[in-house]
Amino acid sequence: MTGTTPPILQADDLVRRYRLRQGLFHRPTMVHAVNGLSLRLARGETLGLVGESGCGKSTTGRLLIGLDRPDAGTVCFGGKALPAMGDIRWRRLRMRIQMVFQDPLAALDPRLTIGAQIAEPLEIHRLGSRSEREGRVEALLADVGLRTDHLRRYPHELSGGQRQRAVLARALATDPDLIVCDEPVSALDVSIQAQVINLLRDLQARRHMAMIFISHDLRVVRLISNRIAVMYLGAIVEEGASEAVLLDPLHPYSRALVSAVPRPGRRRSRTILQGDPPDPAARPGGCAFHPRCPVALPLCARFAPELRPAPDGRRVACHLIGDHGGELNKEA
Ligand code: SF4
Repeated sequence: MTGTTPPILQADDLVRRYRLRQGLFHRPTMVHAVNGLSLRLARGETLGLVGESGCGKSTTGRLLIGLDRPDAGTVCFGGKALPAMGDIRWRRLRMRIQMVFQDPLAALDPRLTIGAQIAEPLEIHRLGSRSEREGRVEALLADVGLRTDHLRRYPHELSGGQRQRAVLARALATDPDLIVCDEPVSALDVSIQAQVINLLRDLQARRHMAMIFISHDLRVVRLISNRIAVMYLGAIVEEGASEAVLLDPLHPYSRALVSAVPRPGRRRSRTILQGDPPDPAARPGGCAFHPRCPVALPLCARFAPELRPAPDGRRVACHLIGDHGGELNKEA
């Protein structure tokens, strides 16, 4: 985030746990979906939230826009605490915060035309006269690269890429300040993914919106993000400018993720992580990454590292990075 500009979005120490019963005769287990997560987002900035499936990215996205309530911690939007869902203030605020999900077919109503669905938020928030709304819908359609004849079509008559464009047009209808995109291109063909990413990048720059871009795919995240936050088991383990995180990842988990991304013309030895993929219902003690970490020390199983300042304005949660070194010497 730049300088002293107040953030449009600020989350502090978010915690979200669920009880999960895996069978009729099993005791419920506690799933730690989000575990003490804090972040800031400036106006006009895009933060990529990346990590494996089950790391809590989607739950974080829902907490940030108030679709889910944290068990602890706070979310502030525009300097004010996010009101509870259903509260009249939350409904008003929803005009300024929108979310785009992975599956555009599930996000659209099969019984309504595309035109009716793009107009819906304008009608709900009573924005403009009927003719103004019609004009706005046509302008939005052009903005996302759809034609006016798409207005009268139903979702099943559009391709996957066109449906995601329609979802974007609907999300942009109220001119939001913040848009949270949860895996918005992972259900699309690779060639269409690039088109939708370019569109999102272009729209975000023109409208100066803040954006949280959630994805398991670092290749996609790097195309659009100013900053990247790498998540592991409900917490951010490294956060910083995209270039710094991608060119010189500091946390061992970020290093493994980055090493798996093919880079044309460059050879990088890939780090294959050992052990089981992260399970939020069986969160290890100490550093949650220690069972898979190739450079773990004995103390990593006992003490959880905090997210602390590191080189290049980054924050990293690892006993081996930044001022954790002092802690290490004390504990050794
Ligand atoms: Fe690996 Fe220890 Fe750092 Fe965790 S704290 S990432 S286990 S070295």
